[in-house]
Amino acid sequence: MEAKFSDIRQAYEIDKKSPLIFRAMPKIKDTYMAPIMRFAMKVNIAAQVMSRTVAAFLYTLQKNTSFNREIEQRSLATATFIQQVDELFDSFNGSQITPPTGKDIKCLVTDDSAHQSYWKKAFQIIKKWKFKRFTKQGNLRTTKPPSQIGWLTSIRAIQYIWNDLRSKGFSSLRPRALNQDALENLFGAIRSGCGDNPTVFQFIGSLKTQILNGLTKQALSGTNCEEDDNVLLSNLKSFLHVEETHTDSDAETGGNEETLSVAYVSGFIAKKILGPDHQCDDCQQLLCSTSMEAQNLFIAFKEWTDNENRLMYPSENLVIAVGHAVTVLENFIQKHGGKPDLSKCSAIEIKNVVNFSWFSCELHCNTIIEGVIKAVCPIGIPWWCKRQNRNIIQEKKDARATKRKIRKFKNQ
Ligand SMILES: [Zn+2]
Repeated sequence: MEAKFSDIRQAYEIDKKSPLIFRAMPKIKDTYMAPIMRFAMKVNIAAQVMSRTVAAFLYTLQKNTSFNREIEQRSLATATFIQQVDELFDSFNGSQITPPTGKDIKCLVTDDSAHQSYWKKAFQIIKKWKFKRFTKQGNLRTTKPPSQIGWLTSIRAIQYIWNDLRSKGFSSLRPRALNQDALENLFGAIRSGCGDNPTVFQFIGSLKTQILNGLTKQALSGTNCEEDDNVLLSNLKSFLHVEETHTDSDAETGGNEETLSVAYVSGFIAKKILGPDHQCDDCQQLLCSTSMEAQNLFIAFKEWTDNENRLMYPSENLVIAVGHAVTVLENFIQKHGGKPDLSKCSAIEIKNVVNFSWFSCELHCNTIIEGVIKAVCPIGIPWWCKRQNRNIIQEKKDARATKRKIRKFKNQ
């Protein structure tokens, strides 16, 4: 039996004659029928075309006498193929113990789940798939697309993983968690900051910027992955925001996620200020500490190697000052955002409000404090602007979406 993509196209054309709300396949759009450019790489589009809904619609067209003159008998094969692919996706996408109704295989892999016998069967079926495509000269040729080999590899792999886990005492496996979407999304975000062919330094710089900016949804739009459900440990606001009251309870604040993030930014600032030229033991002692201090846990985890400390560990006083400075800066921009010389004015405000009396190196006191303040502003201000812009864009998007919905309801 031969399955053809043209059957799906034909079914889509028939379905398109109905108004949108009555359509059997409302999720399918024109662009999906001839996927080019970025659409061709989107897994979610493939998943929507290869879905049970589309298969079901093809079956319906077959059964319905008013349509079956329009659509060939052979298209049953297409429906069957789509259903097989849909099931394959399901078998790799379960995240709950009980599967949703009608999707028996979309659940956790356990000893009792149907996965084992299903994959055995599916492996044999996929092996027999033969794909035909037209060459540029217009001849039909049998090909083995990477996706076919990929499915076979994936099935083998997940069987090995499950057997291995079971032998180590695991009672279930969540196949939805077995993907590299998070990694791909991260790399996509890094690429958006430094292009496709960065140097090592550009790459590291972009990675740091992305961590600082938060891997926002906006930055991820246009990637070819399904959105992963992961949340960033901290966005920059929580990254930098620290309460003033944390001063004397080091041990308690040590585990606090926000303090750890502020520590990271503070270390970044300390490294910038204490360049190789600044050789003063007092300054070093006041601004830096060892990795053993509680607030530096996060940085210690980020070290590339265990043997060598490449990242700077800030002192607790510096962490508190930077955290307070960012809070002051944010409040200041909120009130005086539109005024000229924002950077200068907010720097003065920070200098007036934040406590720097702990910094007692008389020789460098002014330069260092100025340096810390100067470092906080270029991190905090652009980020604040970016966030405001993002809010405005989101509001516009929401408004457009509402309009669209109203139009749909009116069936225009
Ligand atoms: Zn000094």
